Order: sequence, then structure tokens, then C-alpha cells
Amino acid sequence: SEVKIGRALLSVSDKSGLVELGQALARHGVELVSTGGTAKALRDAGLDVADISDLTGFPEMMDGRVKTLHPKVHGGLLAVRSNAEHRASMEEHAIAPIDLVVVNLYPFAQTVARGGTREEIIENIDIGGPSMVRSAAKNHESVAIVTDPADYTRLIAEMDEKGGATSYDFRRMLCAKAYAATAAYDSMISQWFAAVDQGEKFPATRVMGSRLAGTLRYGENPHQDAALYLPLGPATSGIGQAEQVQGKELSYNNYNDADAALELLAEFRDGPPTVVIVKHANPCGVATGETLVEAYEAALACDSVSAFGGIIAVNRPLDGPTAEAISGIFTEVVVAPGADDAARAVFAKKKNLRLLLLSDGLPDPYRRGLQTKIIAGGVLVQDRDHGHVTPGMLKVVTKRAPTEQELKDCLFAWTVAKHVKSNAIVYAKDGVTAGIGAGQMNRRDSSRIAAVKAREAAETYNWAQPRTVGSAVASDAFFPFADGLLAAVEAGATAVIQPGGSIRDDDVIAAADEAGLAMVFTGMRHFRH
Ligand code: 5GP
Repeated sequence: SEVKIGRALLSVSDKSGLVELGQALARHGVELVSTGGTAKALRDAGLDVADISDLTGFPEMMDGRVKTLHPKVHGGLLAVRSNAEHRASMEEHAIAPIDLVVVNLYPFAQTVARGGTREEIIENIDIGGPSMVRSAAKNHESVAIVTDPADYTRLIAEMDEKGGATSYDFRRMLCAKAYAATAAYDSMISQWFAAVDQGEKFPATRVMGSRLAGTLRYGENPHQDAALYLPLGPATSGIGQAEQVQGKELSYNNYNDADAALELLAEFRDGPPTVVIVKHANPCGVATGETLVEAYEAALACDSVSAFGGIIAVNRPLDGPTAEAISGIFTEVVVAPGADDAARAVFAKKKNLRLLLLSDGLPDPYRRGLQTKIIAGGVLVQDRDHGHVTPGMLKVVTKRAPTEQELKDCLFAWTVAKHVKSNAIVYAKDGVTAGIGAGQMNRRDSSRIAAVKAREAAETYNWAQPRTVGSAVASDAFFPFADGLLAAVEAGATAVIQPGGSIRDDDVIAAADEAGLAMVFTGMRHFRH
């Protein structure tokens, strides 16, 4: 799989490092062929180089628009060396193999950046260069394609080590880089035409393999425009793949909230009937139950004030009774893996309610993938939070170990807390959230807010006591001080699940022991910002 380089075609706009590379190639006896400017630079350095026009038998013409677009070039790049017919064609048409291509493209971005005219910008769309890059990369079995001057040293080292040859692994790496380079180059050009030349706010395609699916009513606020982009290729199921079967047009916030609801619900894909109610991307009630309607009523009761105008996700096909119950208050969006005729009939009366169905079922909550977030002047990328805590990972740190029920509630609360904006505190009992504190700037406040909500629920429903009494409480990150934990004790929690890892863990554990709590450490945190 090592291929000795006999002939190299060099055609570069950025001439840095070119001469050193040319000299190294000459040292290995490589025959050099180049386009006008590149050939001149090499010749000026005293190197022997053939003109591309001698190889093609055509002059470079039309202001350089046509230089290397010729079968003598592309045949020499694309011919499969092991294929007898290809070899015969090469012989018949006097096509010589080219084993190395060094190309970097016309400076399109730089021309835009320096404020070039439209004509100059268009003239700086490289045509022959990307063609050579793509041909050479396709045939990486035999051809090395260098598109980045930073790889010259590596190429020289490789040839020095292998007696003027390149390895298959090296060529394969170069090939991946080459297609990334042409993809980036073309997307840059398409973005310029769409955004600058056509003044389109939402270009039809964007980098990272997505296409414009449609514009939305508006963004987070009415003065912001917004659009939805979907993957060009196959996508794992998610809110982007849901089918809207009725209701008003989905807004940016609807999508964002429905996504939060579905991502949390997916954690219960294989669980009992479960309902998630989300408001402003935070769950305000999550519950499991014997039936879907029972789960809905329990989730609603957690924070019925916030549930108004909520986004609901359920993990079973919707039935009539559940749809009836949901229709009891104003609901923006319902996401479900399906809906029976009775449920559809109920919702049909609610013209505005958006019903989204997932024909592919719920997404895998632990799937791998990347998440991006745009910041001013850049893009942050991270793995999606696919981490999950299993019972075996838990470490009991208090004198008292949790009971079986407490352990169940701990894990339920923990799963919900993963999907609550930090600082997140979630109380849960019997598979139902009892109080959720989200997005506060300190953990003690989240703990208190969750308890307040639980007390309000008790008043609303005339319960003898808030559901936090005898509950488990989850904290998405460690308690830095005992105060957050003490607030939970005050609310009546008897079990705690948290990552641990604070320098004051000992204080927090001591406070837990004193209050007779059972506490487990997960060793994993779930910040969500
Ligand atoms: P040079 O400075 O050697 O005259 O030109 C080098 C540049 O020409 C490189 O950026 C290369 O990608 C580009 N190039 C090579 N062949 C062609 C062609 O046939 N058409 C166009 N438009 N550009 C080419």
C-alpha cells in the first residue's frame, strides 16, 4: 500500500512553504508539473518544473479559468492503477499517472474580507483546484492529496522515511482533510451567494449538513426571525422528526420546549406510563402512573400554576381519557408516540393545540451525538449529555442506607434533575415529582423554591401535607454547603441523591447523618445551562 511518488502536480495560491516542498520532492527525484504562478515560483528558486500546458497540450486560458481541467490531468489522477482497462486507456491516450497533488484554492474568503468587488469575488471561485482535490482524494488508494501547507513537513518526513513513498494511512488521512476542505470552500461560497448576494437571512443550506426546513412564526421574541434546519442525511428520531397532525404553526419556543420535554421523556422510554410537562424548557411536573391519565393528573398536580400553557410529552400512545384531561387546561403542544381515534377526536375540538406524533417512537436517551451552541464570534461543541447513573454506581455515604422505595425515588428525581436547568433541585415521591427548583443562581434558593411549590400544591389540592414530606431529593451538582441540604430536610426529604465531590462533603454528610437522612453519591453531575 506504499506508493512511490513519481510525478507531482503543484498548483497553489498560497505559496508559503512551496519552495522547500519543491526542493524535497526534487531530492526524491519527483517530476514536478505546475500551473503558471506556481511554476514561476519554483523556477525562480532554481527548480526544474514542467508547465501544465505542456502536459495538457492546451494553453492556460480564459484568465486562468481553464488550466488543469483536462483528461490528461484528471485521467492521471483518477485512473485505478490496478485496473487493466484503466491502464490501457492511459496508454492509448498518453496519460501519465500523477501520484501527488498539492493544491490550495483561490482566496475566496480573503477576497470577500478585503471588500473585493462582486466580479473579483466571483473570479476567486476556484474551479480547477477543487476538481483536482476531489479527483485525487477519490483515488487516495494511489494518490496523495495535500491541501494544507501545514502538512508539507509531514509529507516530507513520510517520503524521507519511506524512500520517496507515502503510506495508505497517510493518504487516507489526507483524503478526509481534502473533502473537508472542498466542502468548507463550497459552503463558504454558497453562504456568500445566499446571505450577501441574495440577502437571504436563512440560506437553503448551512454547514454541518443541514437544510432549511422552513421559517418559523418568529424567534424567541416577535422582533426576532427564526427558522428550522433539519439534517440533510438520516437523523435519529427527535423533535425535529415529529409530524404535526394538528394545531397552530409551531414557534421557535414551541420547538425548544417540545425538545426539552421529549428529551426528558425519552429517559422513560422503557418505563411505566409517564408524562412530562415543560414550561420554558424546564419540567414543572413529571410523573409515572398505572395509566397515562393517572400520570398526567399527578404531573399536573406538582405545579398546576406553571402547567398552564405547557408542553406535554407522553411515552404511550394518547388515549381518550388522557386527551380529555389535557384539554382541561390551556396546553400549547402535546408530543406522543401515537394517538388513538378517541384522543384525536378530543383534540380536534382544540383547534390551536399542536399535536406532534413520533412515528419512529421515542429517541434513545443515551445516544451519542454532538450539541452546538453559538456564542458571539464562535461555536461551542460538546457531546450531548448521554451520561446516566445506574444503581451500581451509587455510593451510600450516610450511616443510614436508603430503603428500596427511597432508592427508586432518588433515581427518578435524579433523572428529572438532569433535565432541569442548573441549579436544579428535584423532590420526588412514588414516581412523581413533588417540587422542582430550577435555574437559580444558588442551590439553596432552588431547594427552597421547590419546597414552596410543593406547599402550594398541597394547599391547592387540600393535601394533609406537601409531597416533599418523606420524599427523595436530587441535586444536579454537589451541595457546596450544608444549607441546601438543610432546606431539603426542612421540606421533609428523607433521602438525598447528589454527585458528591465538594471539599465540604464531610460537613454535608454530617448534616445528613444528624437529620437521619440516607444519602447516595452518583459521582456524576448533570449541569444544564
Ligand atoms: P497559479 O498561481 O499556479 O497560476 O495558480 C494556482 C491556483 O490555480 C490554485 O489555487 C489552483 O487551485 C488554481 N487552479 C488550478 N487549475 C485551475 C483551473 O483549471 N481553473 C481554475 N479556475 N483554477 C485553477
